[in-house]
Amino acid sequence: MDVVIRGRVVTPEAIIEDGWVAVKGGKIHAIGQGEVPDAASVHDTGNAFVLPGIIDGQTHAGSYLGLPGIEPTTRSAIAGGVTTIVDMPYDNPAPLSSAEHLEAKIAAVGQYAHCDVALYGTVMPGQPLDAVKVLADGGVVAFKISAFESSPTRFPRIDAGLTLDLLEALSVTDLPLGLHNEDQEIVRARIARARAAGENGIAAHSPSRPAAAELASTAHFLELAASAGAHAHIVHISTPRGFQLVDTYARDGFRATGELCVHYLWFDPEKHGAELGARMKVNPPIRPGQIDALWQELAEGRIAFVSSDHSSWPIDNKFTDSIFDAGAGVPGMETLLPAFYTVAAERGADAALMTAEYLAERPARFFGLYPRKGVLMPGADADITILAEEEDIWDSSRAEDGLRWSPYDVRRFTARVKATYHAGRLAYDGRTVLNTPGSGRYLRRGESTWFQEETGA
Ligand SMILES: [Zn+2]
Repeated sequence: MDVVIRGRVVTPEAIIEDGWVAVKGGKIHAIGQGEVPDAASVHDTGNAFVLPGIIDGQTHAGSYLGLPGIEPTTRSAIAGGVTTIVDMPYDNPAPLSSAEHLEAKIAAVGQYAHCDVALYGTVMPGQPLDAVKVLADGGVVAFKISAFESSPTRFPRIDAGLTLDLLEALSVTDLPLGLHNEDQEIVRARIARARAAGENGIAAHSPSRPAAAELASTAHFLELAASAGAHAHIVHISTPRGFQLVDTYARDGFRATGELCVHYLWFDPEKHGAELGARMKVNPPIRPGQIDALWQELAEGRIAFVSSDHSSWPIDNKFTDSIFDAGAGVPGMETLLPAFYTVAAERGADAALMTAEYLAERPARFFGLYPRKGVLMPGADADITILAEEEDIWDSSRAEDGLRWSPYDVRRFTARVKATYHAGRLAYDGRTVLNTPGSGRYLRRGESTWFQEETGA
């Protein structure tokens, strides 16, 4: 064996106390309990959890720096126990919608990435759909579109006609079509009204993009996908009603899923708005009084998985006179794991098992990466995260993303990442990122399919 890691080993079935994971040639060779096998080195983690490497199913590495943004984002991932990211297509200056862009992004992963990277693709308004097959053949794990124009060139709105065409093109595949779910007409009208009324603070953000805009967009998309027979995936839902809409379609036999970002479980504009202002601005907005009900959606199994929606915006992007001019999105890569674990533990859940399920196994299955990723079992990649139950007050000045700000600053986590193994090698020792840019690999979509495995069909 190259290395044996001792600790509380978290497998899908159970936590193996006094367990070990033996690694050889970058893969997990064996898992056991008690006496450890011979190895070149033994890493005794004491009482820490030995988790499958975390998979962040929603990141925006290139929205500000372009493809070189992969370096700080994946460096932050490794320090946060995240060994695979699934990156959104909205790179600066243009999104991933062509074979040339895919090739360039794969090359950038080879040059910059500290962790493994799977990719979303997209299409531009008016673009012929032959690109869909080209990108699918190139290994993208999903597609994403937006019902709302954040930027005409980088993050455009896709209208209903093209959305239906795209869903029909994807219906014969396992590739989900992710949606940024906000109705453009409602949001633009409400923002104009709020501006005219002189509103400019975070309290005006949620009402300016009301739940009605989010839910109507969600429902419209679910129906288009049901008609096309495609997999509709809502990439962030801010209210329980959104997950219940998705669940209605799923129970009717359609391929529909919804994803939750961890900040919706942490922040409330009524509690944190005065302190954070634009530092908690995300779209769809974090709404007042939703945390308990969103946790209930998770506990009752209506959420596919949990992600960070990490956005690598510099803080300058948030210093605007009006909330409507501030950038949307927050850094969250390095806080995803401790933030989720902390919430789960506070709610009395078996936090380690739930973390392995919602932050590793489920996203791996969802993006066709399972069982190579997302689970500790022989034959899987030796991507392993060591997490200790230990109080930690978050301080973004020590984060590896280089951004020096976070909505989680001074918030208390009850777990801390002590080490990260990527492909069998120690990539983070609890203080320093040890691996080099280019250690990460591009991951093509593999064989696992969410719905067949979920239903056993
Ligand atoms: Zn996002």
